[in-house]
Amino acid sequence: MKKIHLMWFRQDLRLIDNQALTAAVEDKDAQTVAIYIHTEAQWDKHETSMGARAFVARQLQSLDAELRELNIPFYVLESTDFKASLKLLNSFVQMHHVHALFFNKQYEVNELARDKEVHQWINEIDCLAYIADFDDSVLVPPMKVLTQQGEMYKVFTPFRNAFLKVLTEQHLRVSKAPDKKAENVFVLDGQFESLVISCKDLVQYYEKNTCQSILENLPKVSETEAINSLRVFCTEHAAKYDEVRNFPYQDKTSRLSAYLVHGLLSPRQCVRRLMMVHPNVFNEPKSGAFCWLNELIWREFYKHLIVAFPFLCKHQPMIEWTKNIEWRNDMSLFDAWKEGKTGYPIVDAAMRQLNQTGWMHNRLRMVVASFLVKDLLIDWRLGESYFMSKLVDGDLAANNGGWQWAASTGCDAAPYFRIFNPTSQSEKFDEEGHFIRKYVPELAKLSSSTIHEPFAKNAPFGLNYPKPIVEHKRMREQTLAAYEKAKSFG
Ligand code: FAD
Repeated sequence: MKKIHLMWFRQDLRLIDNQALTAAVEDKDAQTVAIYIHTEAQWDKHETSMGARAFVARQLQSLDAELRELNIPFYVLESTDFKASLKLLNSFVQMHHVHALFFNKQYEVNELARDKEVHQWINEIDCLAYIADFDDSVLVPPMKVLTQQGEMYKVFTPFRNAFLKVLTEQHLRVSKAPDKKAENVFVLDGQFESLVISCKDLVQYYEKNTCQSILENLPKVSETEAINSLRVFCTEHAAKYDEVRNFPYQDKTSRLSAYLVHGLLSPRQCVRRLMMVHPNVFNEPKSGAFCWLNELIWREFYKHLIVAFPFLCKHQPMIEWTKNIEWRNDMSLFDAWKEGKTGYPIVDAAMRQLNQTGWMHNRLRMVVASFLVKDLLIDWRLGESYFMSKLVDGDLAANNGGWQWAASTGCDAAPYFRIFNPTSQSEKFDEEGHFIRKYVPELAKLSSSTIHEPFAKNAPFGLNYPKPIVEHKRMREQTLAAYEKAKSFG
């Protein structure tokens, strides 16, 4: 009987450059079997959006077909919750005499604790000879980019400089998809049959529960589509990324975030492709290509931070005194923000983009986050959680980092006294008002000089659009006072 190697897919739903999968199939004398454990309750707890679930379900279906082609059996198993999924995996390993277990690390605090428990099985399960885990979702493993004092950086630029020194060819090695295996004779033990969910059913279930406009706007789901989008971006847009990335209507950012979050692409593939098209990217810090690389390093920064400071996963601020801020938390204002009815056109257009498509442009994420926290004095955690409930690319580390940046509570955050003016942001980054017109049709007929602030500039009589729910200037003062008071408490 052949040894069984079990590949446990999590947020790494791809065949190419998947470090755990590559290692699992390496031993020719072993037979590889793959599983994914679907846990609805865990998703609820993490506020994963319906769009993200539909995206993952579609990718599981695509992965299933690809693995079948390679003769690697793949089972999506249903479990009730986080704890139950561990029990299920444990009995799967024992019942099928799994020789080695392979997975790629996840860095959120609960996931790390879960994996620590899994590692202990090595002493408890006789058949299990070894467990191999990999730092696959990052270019450089967390805690490998440290200050001279051996600590994690709290400011991005020195982190990036040190990161670039640590990064070597080896970190950028991309592995290919597994070759086709000989016919697989693995037989699933009968007790697991009732736990297997068909990918088709999973797709149908989530598509039924996801609103149509989100489904229509999901990125095309498959590894090939992800690679194709990466190729097109690097060839056609990366060179000018620095010039266009802040203008939502131009829509010239890569749109790869959902692929990266759910693991249809690895960051190594991104950097490799970028280097293929822009061979000097590392030596041209002023280029568009480097500017994009810089964003990938922000992604790393936030992932490294949640490992160094696990309390971030529990939504605690990095800056201690910001715990003292007295939030106003007016729920009627929060509802207006969520629905895109604040009377600030750029904020409303952005929130409607999020609600309708499950994605929002980075510039607008900063604008709406600043507005929620500093114009409405609403706790950033409410915004963070709302984003997770809507984004298809929702990711704890990046989302928490972005919100703490906007709220001035995090590492290398905007200073608390720097408060975005939503109207000037609108005039600067959507000068002609094209983006606003797309998502706020009530304002479609307004001129570009009126559209950013309709009621201040002679809005047409009977305009069916809310008046501003707060006055920016007044709220700015209130917010500064709230932050200063919190700071004085220390
Ligand atoms: P590009 O501009 O093409 O960037 C390429 C990739 O770099 C992105 O796909 C992403 O993986 C990474 N990246 C870019 N900017 C950042 C950043 N500031 N922080 C971390 N990684 C970055 N990104 C998420 O992936 N998930 C989130 O849940 C998320 N929430 C955010 C919340 C707030 C309040 C803010 C300000 C930013 C958030 N971001 C998040 C970061 C950023 O907005 C998105 O990654 C980006 O808009 C995705 O579009 P893109 O793929 O076209 O990005």
